[in-house]
Amino acid sequence: MQNFIKVTLVTYLLSSTPTLGQISHTELNEVFHATSMAYEKKLEETQSALLFNPEDRGLSPWDFSNYLRASYVKIDPTQLENNESNSKWNSSVKTIHIVNVYGGYANLKGITKDGIALVICHELGHAFAKQNFKWDESPMEGEADYYTTSKCLKKVFQFLPKSNHSPKLPSGELDICLSSILDSKLCERVLFAIKHSFMLSLHKETQIQTNLLTPDKTTSLEINRDLRFYPNPQCRIDTLVAGLLLNPRPSCWFQ
Ligand SMILES: [Zn+2]
Repeated sequence: MQNFIKVTLVTYLLSSTPTLGQISHTELNEVFHATSMAYEKKLEETQSALLFNPEDRGLSPWDFSNYLRASYVKIDPTQLENNESNSKWNSSVKTIHIVNVYGGYANLKGITKDGIALVICHELGHAFAKQNFKWDESPMEGEADYYTTSKCLKKVFQFLPKSNHSPKLPSGELDICLSSILDSKLCERVLFAIKHSFMLSLHKETQIQTNLLTPDKTTSLEINRDLRFYPNPQCRIDTLVAGLLLNPRPSCWFQ
């Protein structure tokens, strides 16, 4: 299984071609690599494999430069139609988790590798979060956000070298980390990733400005398990911060 993951990863690294943008294809692969390393043990324990941006008819999701999205899908390797894909998988692999990161992120102004890691972690929340499910029994969006900072990102950052060029956060935002039991540098790094991923993409998509210091005060009357339901942008940012600090999930989506 370990060899299998390494072989897959090497194939990916070799097949990468540089793309112009805020995040290059090489940097994207660095984040994929760090995430694979962080999840190696878990994948082995759960007899599963993790695949990033598989090509479809010669195109990678990263080639879709106008599509600012990431996605997750879980497949059973025995159900793959084509023999070539089927024979690639070791028989011990019972589940394949596929994460796609589309090329809209490549040119998102201000995006960082840490920000891409955060986006990937959200998708892995749909694979590995263990509570608060939608009607189809997949983890809810709010839960995937909570998983992102409570579990995933802290692990992935152990394998992803910190950029030398990260500017400092303003002091008011840094104060968020005073109530954290985490190492202050790690806490700061996660906050910075929140600002340089979801806050940018949510703004581009909805034109709604979010802030680390002005939480959504609304209280949801019931937990919404609808398949298409997303908490509002500020509520999502609050959930990421709550996960980072291991505070309760915010009442804007959770009860
Ligand atoms: Zn999601």
